[in-house]
Amino acid sequence: MTRAIALDGLSGAGKSTIAKALANTLGINYLDTGAMYRALAYAAKQEQIPLDIEDLVAAWLDQSGLELVLARTGQKTLLHGVDVSADIRLPEISKLSSAISALPSVRHYCVEMQRQLADQQMPLVLDGRDIGSYVLPRADFKFYLEATAAERARRRWRQMQDDTQGMATQSYDQVLTEIIKRDQNDSSRKLAPAVAAPDAIKIETTELTVSEVLQRILRLMRVRAAEDPKLGDFWQQYLVSDSVSGAENKR
Ligand code: C5P
Repeated sequence: MTRAIALDGLSGAGKSTIAKALANTLGINYLDTGAMYRALAYAAKQEQIPLDIEDLVAAWLDQSGLELVLARTGQKTLLHGVDVSADIRLPEISKLSSAISALPSVRHYCVEMQRQLADQQMPLVLDGRDIGSYVLPRADFKFYLEATAAERARRRWRQMQDDTQGMATQSYDQVLTEIIKRDQNDSSRKLAPAVAAPDAIKIETTELTVSEVLQRILRLMRVRAAEDPKLGDFWQQYLVSDSVSGAENKR
């Protein structure tokens, strides 16, 4: 058993918001695995590493300087010791991260790092595309968040507007087009595509607020923990609080 909660889903499904709120409520750390692919995409761009020559990318990975610092206050994504957590959120990096994440050498590199972190920082909430299906197939809990592409684009666009005080550089239609493109890339790649693990619980979030999704996950975790002593013995101590701090009452 891996003492971890896998939270997977396509772009904009609300994974990182839910993962943060869930980790906060349970009092455990959270790993945003997308940040790794984003940071590698950002670094490769800065260092002009050609993504179409995989041998070069593979040889470079160990020198990329990627480092993750997990803390209860949030994750820091570092490249050679410099915090790039904000830089990796640009739309251009979103696109590049989807391309770089399809390279097998990149996936192996990131997946290895994710497994090590899950081992060292147990218990952990991880959000991604392939956590339950590939990275941690024995994770104690697996959830797969779903929402329509239109709703996911709306959430992303609204987030961009909030981050830029209403000066988002992309229109809603551009965000939607990119989300659909990334869905195709992430779902169709050969190695570890974005899919729900057969034993993952799917949650359709289109009509739900953050707080409702969080409550549903906590309820499902409590039910499972009560039914299965192998889960209950470990997770009960984390599931005692009813607080939903960090959760917002919006979709
Ligand atoms: O989740 P986020 O949008 O930050 O992820 C950026 C990109 O990284 C995704 O479009 C996807 O291609 C890739 N990714 C992945 N596997 C993960 C997490 C992210 O392939 N576990």
